[in-house]
Formats: sequence, C-alpha cells, structure tokens
Amino acid sequence: MTSTSTNSHSKGGSNTIIQDVSNPAMDRKAYGHPTETMKALVWNSKNDVRVIETPKPVLFDTNQRDIIVRVTGTTICGSDLHLLHGAIVQCKSGDILGHEFCGVVEEIGENAKNNARGIKVGDRVVASFQIACGECYYCNKKLSSQCEKTCSNEMARGMYGEATAGIFGYSHFTGGFAGGQAEYVRVPYGDVNLLPLPDDVPDEKGLYLSDVLATSYHCVVDTGIKEGDVVGIWGAGPIGQMCADYAFMEGASRVIIVDNNWRLEYVKSKIPMVETLDFSAFEDVPRQKATEENTDLLAKRQRRRTLISY
Ligand SMILES: [Zn+2]
Ligand SMILES: [Zn+2]
Repeated sequence: MTSTSTNSHSKGGSNTIIQDVSNPAMDRKAYGHPTETMKALVWNSKNDVRVIETPKPVLFDTNQRDIIVRVTGTTICGSDLHLLHGAIVQCKSGDILGHEFCGVVEEIGENAKNNARGIKVGDRVVASFQIACGECYYCNKKLSSQCEKTCSNEMARGMYGEATAGIFGYSHFTGGFAGGQAEYVRVPYGDVNLLPLPDDVPDEKGLYLSDVLATSYHCVVDTGIKEGDVVGIWGAGPIGQMCADYAFMEGASRVIIVDNNWRLEYVKSKIPMVETLDFSAFEDVPRQKATEENTDLLAKRQRRRTLISY
C-alpha cells in the first residue's frame, strides 16, 4: 500500500465512523452476529498469526453506510509482513488482518442502498484497501488515502503530524478496522469503498484493484515519468513488475529492474523489454552500471573505429 500527498490543510481529527472494532468478538452484542460465526486470520503477537472462529460482522455504524461482503478472494501483501514482523505499532491480539479482498455483497446499510455505483446484494465487488468517506477535503481532491474522516489515531498524528485514512486490517494505528482475510468483512462507507466487478473479470484479476494495481500505477504517476525517461525500479515483486509495465505505457525508453533472485528472470519472461540487474553481483550498483555502459560505449566506438579502419 502507499500513502500520498502533503498539504497544509489541517484535518482536524473529526472522524465520522466508529474506530477500533478490529474483530466483532470484541463486543459481539454490538458488532457481531448473535449466532453465526466465520473463520478469520488474526494477529496474535509478533511472528504469530492464526486462523480462529469468530462472530460474523453485522452492520453497525450509525451512519448506516456499512456493507457486508462475503469474501471470495483475498491476498497477503508485502505490507502484511510488517505487521507479522512487529514493525507496525498498536497491533493487538485478535485483530483480523487483510486489506486486499473481493467478494459478494451480502447486506447493505440503509443509507448505502441508493448508491451511485448501483451496488446491490449479490453483486461481485472489490474493496479499496483504504477507507474513504468520499466527501471530505481530501476525498474531493481524489486523495482518498488521506481521507480526514476515517481514522482518528492520535499516535499517527503525533508521529507524522496527521493520520492517513483508515485501512482494513492494519493495526489500530490506522483506525483498527477488521480486515478481509476472513470469510466476511464489514466495509465502512461501503458505497464509497467498493467497486462492482464485471462478470468477465475473475477474482484473480479484479482483486488486484484492491491495492497492487492502484499502488503501482500511483508510483509511476507520482514519480512523473515522461516520454523517453530511463527508469530504475528496485524490487521485482508484483509492484515492481507492474510499475515496469506502467512505465513503458507512460513512454519510458528503458526500464531497469534491480533485484537479486529468480524474480528477475520471471519479469524478463513477462516483459522482455525490461533490463534486469542482479545487485548481489555488484558492490556498487549505480557505479557498476555506469562503468558497464561506458565499457559498452567504448566497445561500440572501438567497433565503429575498427569498421572505418577496414
Ligand atoms: Zn497491500
Ligand atoms: Zn474523506
């Protein structure tokens, strides 16, 4: 996932949705189904996650714009490893993980029923990893990861000056919302944060809209790649691979991906125009690359000279 934007606009800390309900079991009467349960993956402690049986979520936010989704596809993100490794503060035992998911709409809050996207019960949808209100200063500027109404975490404000938008399954630091690595999930502002999936888009493709596709495209647009640019990408994981694709789409003349394992060959097989560089072979990648290019250039000049001399 990624965060965007700096702006002098003050968010003011006025969240409009209930915070820190990271598992319906916390208060089953208020947040969970009275009898039905589901399986969910929860954070227990550093390097310890487990699948548990917990109550299914119900619609509960007072704005009545929640939507319940039966999850049919979910992924583990590189960002989830930060939670697993204990690198993110304020994870609590029992927090349901997962911020990338798609599924089928089960139930819609009263005020989300006449939504602009026409989402209705039974529709296939993909969720945004961030939870946006759709109406605030930042949402109106399409900077939804900075929504000022969905996370009121004080530690985030203390550390960074402001909090990001709320994020599914990503610690109380981002609002403490139960995530989608579960059979069911409640989507706050469901009318804003869900996108219907056409029938011909399978889960395995639509799911990437939750985070990785949008994050990769954001990287490329935010970096400001222009026609003819030479682009360096560190890391040949899914984000790096898609960044390469988008960089070429934006007109990059060369894309060089740096990594140190099999992923380099994989990305090369998928995007043959990509140049790859295994950093484990060099002590100083930029210097080595520059030297290589110089050597290459010298060799070409040498050849040219050779040709002329003949
Ligand atoms: Zn992610
Ligand atoms: Zn907003």
